[in-house]
Amino acid sequence: MAEMKDSLTGLDKYETFLEKLKIEISKMDGYRIAIIYTDIKHFKYINDTYGYQRGDMLLKEFVNQVLKIDKKLLCAARVYSDNIVVATKLDTDFNNNTFRDLIYERNMVLERMLRDKYLDERLKLSTGISIISKDDRRLDPATAVSNANLARKMAKEMNDDCCILFDNQMIEGIKKEVEVTSSLPKAIRNYEFKVYYQPKMGSGDKVIIGAEALVRWQKPNGGFVFPDEFIPIIEQSGQIVDLDYYVYREVFKFIAERLENDLPIVPISVNVSRVHLNKMGILSYVSSLFEEYNIPPQYVEFELTESIYIENTTKALELIEGLHSMGVKVSMDDFGSGYSSLNLLSGLPIDIIKLDKVFLKEGSLDDGSLKENEKIIISCVIDMAKRLKITSLCEGVETIEQSDYLSEIGCEIQQGYYFSKPVPQEEFEKLLDGDVEECSEEVVM
Ligand code: C2E
Ligand code: CA
Ligand code: CA
Repeated sequence: MAEMKDSLTGLDKYETFLEKLKIEISKMDGYRIAIIYTDIKHFKYINDTYGYQRGDMLLKEFVNQVLKIDKKLLCAARVYSDNIVVATKLDTDFNNNTFRDLIYERNMVLERMLRDKYLDERLKLSTGISIISKDDRRLDPATAVSNANLARKMAKEMNDDCCILFDNQMIEGIKKEVEVTSSLPKAIRNYEFKVYYQPKMGSGDKVIIGAEALVRWQKPNGGFVFPDEFIPIIEQSGQIVDLDYYVYREVFKFIAERLENDLPIVPISVNVSRVHLNKMGILSYVSSLFEEYNIPPQYVEFELTESIYIENTTKALELIEGLHSMGVKVSMDDFGSGYSSLNLLSGLPIDIIKLDKVFLKEGSLDDGSLKENEKIIISCVIDMAKRLKITSLCEGVETIEQSDYLSEIGCEIQQGYYFSKPVPQEEFEKLLDGDVEECSEEVVM
């Protein structure tokens, strides 16, 4: 007969565990079952550094502690490596979050013990919990475990939360991620992504002096997806690099066509994802676009969010310098949305700051005008930018009152729904044809 126990930990083999769990689920009555799935972060490091023997010791110790604490234990197994799953009874009226907190506290105690003993402060437990109630009696035990494992993976990604309860929305989130990441390459090939343009206006005469390129996903089934829904997902998978390159190419092509046909055009800014800082292929890509489309560098600008500078100042500096050496301007996007913005400005060779829309949103009164305190803050930031010889742009301008105030205090450029939403290229071209004279050196920001 096949061995039923894991020889190292003495726990059930995973297959045996699933069989036992199936029986436990079918006879569950007057209580629920909690599946607690845990792994040890940095376990591999202990193995690699101190050898497998020490790793095995740690694992056994961990298992002993887990079994000691879970008095209502039904069954337990080692799924593989350092992944341990435990099923315990849970009283029907016991609050799920309280249970999660209990496991969290248990993990804290266990973590402390393991760290002290194995002299590695990075040892950390990540736990996911799924709860099976009477209504889920038909639930396949493997699904219950994989739900707990999904929550465990989320716990592992978060540094400050080592214990997470599964909920069905997690499955929806994963489905969406898989859908987006797997359909992206085809979507790019099929031109499902469209570049929209949002005009930027000069504060004085309020004419178009620039635009920002913002991507949209127009699915073949007619669905329209905004970037906030898919960009975080494709940033995780790294595919944002390809999408950004696609957008940059579209923008270069657009500018080149307008110039070739002697039509009015303004500088267009593009967004730079934080992911580019990992590989820095962006510099050679942009340089190849300049060679291919042969457009003057003042027609393109790059927007890097404030958080990029904070996360990786050295790389960000390298990127700004690389872009500057090609003659393009760089702006700090979403300025003021984070924490340490002010001191960043003195250390970075930024050309433009884009004040985040929170400055206007939180400061607006019902009639569209700004609160006094907010006015003071905005005008001080703009004044500071001026002294540092940095151009200031305010995003999210939605009312005439906001716009007039910004002009009054010397904010040079404005962007927002008050002037125009981001529009498709054809519409933007109409705005350009009606609104601006050919881009002269003075209006190039
Ligand atoms: P962002 O760069 O801060 O872009 C400004 C966002 O504010 C845009 O949202 C724009 O439509 C919106 N907006 C403009 N004016 C107003 C206003 O007056 N009021 C309000 N409430 N909103 C306004 P969108 O297009 O949905 O883009 C969201 C974010 O997605 C962008 O924020 C940017 O971080 C990212 N994104 C968009 N396109 C790209 C891209 O091609 N590459 C990368 N890496 N990121 C992109
Ligand atoms: Ca932007
Ligand atoms: Ca922004």
